[in-house]
Amino acid sequence: MPRPLVAGNWKMNGTAATAVGLTEAVIAATAADADAVQIVLAPPFTALPAVAAALAGSQLRLAAQDMHWLERGAMTGAVSPPMVAEFASHVILGHSERRAHFGETDIDVNRKVHAAIRHGLAPIVCVGETRLQRDEGRTDAVIECQLRLGLGDLGADRSASLAIAYEPVWAIGSNDPCDPDEADRVIGQIRDWLAGAFGDEAGSRARLLYGGSVTSGNAVQYLSRPGIDGALVGGASLDADGFAAIVRAAR
Ligand code: PEP
Repeated sequence: MPRPLVAGNWKMNGTAATAVGLTEAVIAATAADADAVQIVLAPPFTALPAVAAALAGSQLRLAAQDMHWLERGAMTGAVSPPMVAEFASHVILGHSERRAHFGETDIDVNRKVHAAIRHGLAPIVCVGETRLQRDEGRTDAVIECQLRLGLGDLGADRSASLAIAYEPVWAIGSNDPCDPDEADRVIGQIRDWLAGAFGDEAGSRARLLYGGSVTSGNAVQYLSRPGIDGALVGGASLDADGFAAIVRAAR
């Protein structure tokens, strides 16, 4: 059984200097659980080097919140896989905010997933339906489509390091988290899809996370479920003690 994974997505918050302070606070607050839980911090790009230095010697891992799929070139403002891999072990891909605000498509996500794996980065791929899609009863179809296109042409061997975060778009940053039974059901569907696409072993090896308004108060409702392997945490990851309580719930 892989360890549970709890990732903190700091989004566009903090500078390199404040990120180091938060990193040190998270290391201290999670010290008792860092053996049992894979903890991943995803600061903004500009803080990756400083947070990497602050994490040296700890068991915590570092993620970027996105990256381009190309290795180099005329892509003003973009950050390439080798640039990320210089500091991080993981990369969040296909977050709904990237899809909504930056026009990212499932095809882009697919290019990024392949690039991440080529560069030894473990992808945390986000999928999830909007409120309208849920209200129209299209949740499962939307997620199936995001998986089929986003993970296209991957194959069992290249799916080994995958984590998938089920993040209903309407639940992100909303204080309206998904009902735990429903999150568990959708994550079960994702597991079945992975097993069908990549085989039973790959399906059971992938870590499937829930994300969307997870807090120290509700984390156990998700993380106590055998089918849910961890959490992707946004807002609540900016407070070291609150984040540590979520890590404890994963344990
Ligand atoms: C996220 O951004 O991935 C997320 C889950 O945010 P929040 O926890 O704030 O809902």
